[in-house]
Amino acid sequence: MLRNKKSGWAFAIGGVATVCALTVIVTSQMASMPAQASTLVQSEPKDEKVPTIPRRKLPEQKMLTWKELKPEEKSPERKDKVVLTDEQWKEKLTPEQYRILRAHGTEPAFCGVNLDQKGEGIYFCAGCDLELFVSETKYVSGTGWPSFFMPYQRENVWMRSDRSLGMVRVEVLCSRCDGHLGHVFPDGPEPSGLRFCINGNALQFKQFAN
Ligand SMILES: [Zn+2]
Repeated sequence: MLRNKKSGWAFAIGGVATVCALTVIVTSQMASMPAQASTLVQSEPKDEKVPTIPRRKLPEQKMLTWKELKPEEKSPERKDKVVLTDEQWKEKLTPEQYRILRAHGTEPAFCGVNLDQKGEGIYFCAGCDLELFVSETKYVSGTGWPSFFMPYQRENVWMRSDRSLGMVRVEVLCSRCDGHLGHVFPDGPEPSGLRFCINGNALQFKQFAN
């Protein structure tokens, strides 16, 4: 009886993992092109409380273009840099946030948080609470990761060349804590033509309260 119960659970857990893994394979092949809406979208947990912040005026900025996104060799200087030891990061972040932000991991497509978030507000860095993206630049790319066509402010992110996995991609990092956020591609929608493909677990969404 016990054995049957156990194998039932093992099967159920294995089934979920297989769906995410298959989705990763499919979407990794689609990483360099915009995908159409998928039927595999999974909703994020409904009982998760979204923090709120007062509505604020967003910074005005010039629209970015692909040519202006020059990959840099090293992290840009800031007066408010957040530098923690590996142990401190492990204490501060969830294992999944640590794997993405500090170890350059990627969450499985359609399995992360913030993908289906449609509220009005700001997406902050899950590592250092810096403003990274705003809801009005978020769009449904169909890739399985939260996608934006502009950052909150150009200086809040920085880009570097990523030659891992046999591809040349442009990595996006937080300019305050240097946390890995995702990648940017030149196949986004108007007006910038950019697709910031960001791990949902690297972001903390805060909704405008009024
Ligand atoms: Zn950060």
